[in-house]
Amino acid sequence: MEFEHKISVLGSTGSIGTQTLEIAREYKGISIEAMSAHSNIELLEQQAREFKPKLVCVTDENKANELKIKLADTDTKVVSGKDGLCEAACIDSAKTVVTAVVGISGLEPTIEAIKAKKNIALANKETLVTGGHIVTRLAEETGVKILPVDSEHSAIFQSLQGCRDKREVKNIILTASGGPFFGKKREELQNITPADALKHPNWDMGAKVTIDSSTLVNKGLEVIEAKWLFGTENIKVLVHRQSIVHSMVEFVDNGIIAQLGAPDMRLPIQYALTYPQRLPMNNNELDFRKFSSLTFEEPDTDTFFALRLAFDALKAGGILPTVFNSADEAAVDLFMKGKLSYLGISETIAEAMSKIKNVQNPDIETIFETDRLAREIVYASKLIKES
Ligand code: NDP
Ligand code: MG
Repeated sequence: MEFEHKISVLGSTGSIGTQTLEIAREYKGISIEAMSAHSNIELLEQQAREFKPKLVCVTDENKANELKIKLADTDTKVVSGKDGLCEAACIDSAKTVVTAVVGISGLEPTIEAIKAKKNIALANKETLVTGGHIVTRLAEETGVKILPVDSEHSAIFQSLQGCRDKREVKNIILTASGGPFFGKKREELQNITPADALKHPNWDMGAKVTIDSSTLVNKGLEVIEAKWLFGTENIKVLVHRQSIVHSMVEFVDNGIIAQLGAPDMRLPIQYALTYPQRLPMNNNELDFRKFSSLTFEEPDTDTFFALRLAFDALKAGGILPTVFNSADEAAVDLFMKGKLSYLGISETIAEAMSKIKNVQNPDIETIFETDRLAREIVYASKLIKES
């Protein structure tokens, strides 16, 4: 099937980025106009030689200089830093930007891309968690589409095709795999190591989102992401261990529409790129005979209390979702370095949320100032182990 699309991929060396490139390899009409990495210039060089983008950005300045030398024999321009990332996001020739960088670093390039009238295939949920009010308003003003890549949100988006009036939606039901520690109680989670938390039962993802899945912080971020994408706070979470039902919409007549499929991120990525078209895909058929049952249960928010904190942040709005996100980014970093216990991740998020005064409708400067403050609180927490 023929398909033409020019895209920019921010975070092309990551889990979502490399799967986006797999789709571009399959559908030659998808052309990669720009791409970015933070420091993995070995992979970025290979990708640049294969896809021949006009521009690549390396956010780490030193590594960018190294890549400039490596790519000197090509026509690809190498840029660096935050400005470079915005340049990659705004490149003239691209129609859509896949935002697959990790963390709050996705916010500014996404805003710039929307101002440049690019559609957004949004993987970077942190963008909507921290700046949802700015991003959705801008997208509305500029007529830009925000197409979800996150599997749950893609499932909801797919389930909503054909719904003409938002008032018909009663609840959004986000499914959660429950992660590797499902069924465990707090006492059993005291000595969890990064290696334990990096073993996700169903999905192969980047390190941060994998740790976040195990603490249910990821589901919390997704609850807030869903609010901005679908304009409702009627959001429920159900643990569904098999990751086959990717999420559901319950309508006012109690009818439920769900999207099902194998746990494979290529489908939501591809749908965001080809919407409203669907194109064939290989090796992701779902064989129902292999699943004797599909199970659904309430999440244990006493043990995985970060999910409760996320609902608190959703309800409070304002700057609290940014605090939730940024404290988590800092806490996961410390946990990975062995300086914070596993349970300490949720505890330091709670600490930061209790210490920062909420501000409604924050501007971009306030968001970044809060990001800094939340990280500072986590780094100074009594829970941090001396090295
Ligand atoms: P990865 O860690 O695999 O990749 C992250 C990408 O961002 C890499 O290209 C990395 O470059 C780059 N990067 C890292 N740090 C920075 C920084 N400070 N500034 C700019 N770029 C940076 O992450 P994932 O692909 O797993 O996740 C990307 C986003 O998509 C996240 O927001 C995640 O929540 C979301 N998502 C991911 C899913 C998945 O299945 N993986 C599912 C749903 C959502 P380098 O390689 O050089 O470090
Ligand atoms: Mg998800």
